[in-house]
Amino acid sequence: MYDVAIIGAGVTGASIARELSRYKLKVIILERKNDVSCGTSKANSAIIHAGYDAKENTLMAKFNTEGNPMFDTICKELDVPFRRIGSLVVAFDQEQLNHLQILYQRGMNNNIKGMKILTEYELKTREPAINKNAKGALFASTAGIIDPMLLTISLMESAVINGAEYFLDYEVQSIEKQEKKFKITGSGKTIEATWVINAAGVYADKIHNMVSKPEFKILPRRGQYFLLDKTEGEIVNSILFPCPTKMGKGTLVTPTVHGNLILGPSSDNLDDPEDLSTTEEMLNLARTGAKKLVPSINTGKSIRNFAGMRAVADTGDFIIKEADDTPCFIDVSGIKSPGLTAAPAIAAYVIELFREKGLELKNRINFNPFVKRKIFMELPPVEQEHLLKENPLYGRIICRCENITEGDILDSIHRPVGAKTLDGVKRRCRPGMGRCQGGFCSPLVQEILARELNVPIEDIVLETKHSYILTNKTK
Ligand SMILES: Cc1cc2nc3c(=O)[nH]c(=O)nc-3n(C[C@H](O)[C@H](O)[C@H](O)COP(=O)(O)OP(=O)(O)OC[C@H]3O[C@@H](n4cnc5c(N)ncnc54)[C@H](O)[C@@H]3O)c2cc1C
Repeated sequence: MYDVAIIGAGVTGASIARELSRYKLKVIILERKNDVSCGTSKANSAIIHAGYDAKENTLMAKFNTEGNPMFDTICKELDVPFRRIGSLVVAFDQEQLNHLQILYQRGMNNNIKGMKILTEYELKTREPAINKNAKGALFASTAGIIDPMLLTISLMESAVINGAEYFLDYEVQSIEKQEKKFKITGSGKTIEATWVINAAGVYADKIHNMVSKPEFKILPRRGQYFLLDKTEGEIVNSILFPCPTKMGKGTLVTPTVHGNLILGPSSDNLDDPEDLSTTEEMLNLARTGAKKLVPSINTGKSIRNFAGMRAVADTGDFIIKEADDTPCFIDVSGIKSPGLTAAPAIAAYVIELFREKGLELKNRINFNPFVKRKIFMELPPVEQEHLLKENPLYGRIICRCENITEGDILDSIHRPVGAKTLDGVKRRCRPGMGRCQGGFCSPLVQEILARELNVPIEDIVLETKHSYILTNKTK
């Protein structure tokens, strides 16, 4: 019997799991995919938003404002790359310049520090590659870029190091409310818990409706991207947005924390939350939007296109509360952008909800806030030497694009929430993220995974359950 069962191992569920692991509670995270961070948390713009965009008095504004400043400490504790490079909303005409004033005022109302309206000269000095027709911008110094997959994985690792349990490949199929507990059934196992947290992303309405009367609907909205080679990563210095429209923040251009450039997302409403295909039409819109901001962008340098799915609630805001007719069932749903930014503040709020509702929260005295990770090539020479002595496999480069060694890959497999798939290794230490997109290193990573997990190489999948790469030997 668990105190709390969390459905969904995205950034929301993982953040809540980590916060709960500060207390003496029995916590379990249930995830339908074979790894953590496989939903929306793996495919987004990776921005820690400043907080001027969300409308005043919404939960989105509240948790964006509260979440943003928490990232310095969290990323230090969890060893996650994060850089506050600042964002710019760029205006091209008087109407848009007027809109910047609205955003600025909203930012002030949301209590955002470090904002300034830049003149055309100031903007062009800061961003020499910006379209020469740009007339000014709203600068927000607190906006930053992060690795969202590593953040989610590290949050999960932290929770697990501190006693949380998890099941992967566990799709919740039904939830039954009994007198003082929930009976959760899925993928061959039944779990009992006193409290349930619904952090199931695009499926949060389905999970809610398993146990409670319908209160909201999740509308999937896809966003498609270009990821450009590292040669393009320094074309801009900040995160660049156009003026927003009713469909969202528009196509942005930003460096990634690993030195690439990202363009997107597009925005289209879909019925199928699983449809993460990219389309020529939407990518063309993303390209046009990005080139309007920075005409010199060369999408010929694209190394990958990908799509993410926004979980847009029909209520227009995050839904974070106990279900109306089901005590002890807490929805943390409709977590669209700025959900990545908001996640740590949402988790802190959920703890307060628990406290109010009477869950006993006794501190875990030996809570360890730290997660340590190392990439051999990023270490100082003395540490490299030490590591090489400990394990010579740190001397064998597997991914030449990203400079990843066999030792790094072993670490990603044997960590507390270790990688079991090719993409799982990629999300943790980046082989396959570079220019050749795994063309050279994938077979080697497959061999290493098969050897370390002690399974036939044909059983190693790319990402999802049946995404087999090899079928049988040819020679
Ligand atoms: C295109 C795009 C751009 C974005 N850009 C930003 C940005 O720059 N900054 C920002 O702050 N936010 C951004 N966001 C929003 C942010 O990515 C999300 O708010 C956040 O990732 C949501 O995390 P989550 O954990 O709620 O959902 P998810 O990451 O989707 O996690 C939900 C998990 O629940 C699991 N699940 C579902 N059903 C079941 C079931 N029946 N049983 C077990 N498990 C189940 C899923 O497999 C999934 O892993 C963006 C989103 C998109 C789509």
